[in-house]
Amino acid sequence: MKLKIIKDNNPKIRKKSVDVPLPLSAEDKDLIDSMFNYLVKSQDEEYAMKHNIRAGVGLAAIQVGFPKRMFVIYYQKGDEIVQYKLVNPKIIETSVRKVALQDGEGCLSVDKEHQGYVHRYYKIVMQAYDVIQGKDITIVASGYDAIVLQHEYDHLAGTLFYDHIVYDAPFVKLPNEEII
Ligand code: ZN
Repeated sequence: MKLKIIKDNNPKIRKKSVDVPLPLSAEDKDLIDSMFNYLVKSQDEEYAMKHNIRAGVGLAAIQVGFPKRMFVIYYQKGDEIVQYKLVNPKIIETSVRKVALQDGEGCLSVDKEHQGYVHRYYKIVMQAYDVIQGKDITIVASGYDAIVLQHEYDHLAGTLFYDHIVYDAPFVKLPNEEII
């Protein structure tokens, strides 16, 4: 399936996504596989340059125009590859402790830079069906991993990362917040 990224000037990016029936239809399977392949290829410098696309670590279905509760994640973490194709994810626990990235966040749907701390939960527990593992899984994530999951999860509600920046005080730490 050929995918086109929707940017934040398109009101559709604010649409709420709906649950996806399981087992996945052939169409939904093709969609999530195509999203994952797009993400992997976006990190190939040569390919990205040639096709004028940016590198991402996560992609939600609404970002390619489908309001379905699915997102994919792919990045290298030391020797390990963090990769998911998640369907109907749910955050079931969040920490009191907060976290934000020193350099802020970016998004394949946001071309403009938005400076400031994007306040996130330091640790979350997420449940979802993972197409890669072919089963329901529980993810316990903290720090950067938790940030990526929350960024993608937000897309399902139509929320963008800069919604979390406090514009009067973009670089003020919250109580219990760690900047990484
Ligand atoms: Zn995003």
